[in-house]
Amino acid sequence: MQIIDITIIGQGPAGLSAAIYTSRAGLDTLVLGCEPKVAGDYDIDNYFGFPEGIKGRELIQRGCEHASRFGAELRCERVLSIRQGDDDQSFKIKTDQNEYYTRAVILATGVSRVRPGIKNLTQYEGRGVSYCVSCDGFFFRNKKVVVLGEGLFAANQALELLEYNARVLICPQGKKVDIPDYYLQRLHESDISFVHKKIVRLDGDQVLQKIIFEDGSEQEVDGVFVAMGEASSLDFAYSLGLITHKMFVDVDHEQKTNVPGIFAAGDCVGTFLQISVAVGEGAVAGRSAINHVKQLKKEAAEAAKATFE
Ligand SMILES: Cc1cc2nc3c(=O)[nH]c(=O)nc-3n(C[C@H](O)[C@H](O)[C@H](O)COP(=O)(O)OP(=O)(O)OC[C@H]3O[C@@H](n4cnc5c(N)ncnc54)[C@H](O)[C@@H]3O)c2cc1C
Repeated sequence: MQIIDITIIGQGPAGLSAAIYTSRAGLDTLVLGCEPKVAGDYDIDNYFGFPEGIKGRELIQRGCEHASRFGAELRCERVLSIRQGDDDQSFKIKTDQNEYYTRAVILATGVSRVRPGIKNLTQYEGRGVSYCVSCDGFFFRNKKVVVLGEGLFAANQALELLEYNARVLICPQGKKVDIPDYYLQRLHESDISFVHKKIVRLDGDQVLQKIIFEDGSEQEVDGVFVAMGEASSLDFAYSLGLITHKMFVDVDHEQKTNVPGIFAAGDCVGTFLQISVAVGEGAVAGRSAINHVKQLKKEAAEAAKATFE
């Protein structure tokens, strides 16, 4: 099994900056993610070294070329889940196209959490509303649950819920379904169907018991899993057990999270949502990840040497 040294989730300023450092240090570096929002026709007027301004698209393009020049591999793949590997020293990453094992992960996903627009959703958090199937799916064994979301992330969460024998519906909350055909086929074969009415309110005494749709109709359910848009660093934080504050991942001054081997940088840590800050934090996260991986390799080499002596 091939283990990648460092996998970076995000091709924005934070992820690309980290990739420049990690690949330049000679570690194999995989960068997952697609064009960030800022890579459009926007004038960036406050980034160091560009007194005449630069278009967001060009800045990101240059960042991609810079990281690639040192050997980082950039792939436009959407990460669906990150789990601790079997050996406690690696992580397993599942994307819409592949599975990878890696020694360290740098989260640089920006902030993209899409809200489902249900007024009293937070009132039922921990009482039927959840954001993480791998954390809470167990509590919904043989129960009826709705996954909120329109994309691959929601489809993946819905399929994962089948491991708990749950009866699953997907509600895109008025958004256009954006799930590839092969996944739609899997949903169909697994008896997971869509409900296309929008949920406006939740109801239940102490715990969630029913959902109320915009046309006033109701449906009894035991659980609601929120998986709108793309999986964000917050979703990965739930399944990895990372400490968070509000919608951001907690890190120390070296961009380390509370889980060894997981680092975070840029908008997803919520310091000051600017390109210059994301680039700086990416560099620090890159250096910390380099140190982490070098230490793991050193320990492995020492252990191997000890067995031969
Ligand atoms: C329109 C616009 C204009 C802006 N103008 C300025 C400006 O003038 N000056 C300035 O300093 N800042 C500006 N900003 C803010 C700046 O863009 C952000 O602070 C910066 O891009 C944050 O960088 P990041 O790398 O943390 O995240 P992002 O740039 O948001 O990049 C996130 C990356 O993560 C990837 N990703 C997310 N989820 C997943 C997943 N599940 N799987 C795989 N990949 C994933 C995305 O595809 C993307 O590549 C602007 C932002 C926008 C949207």
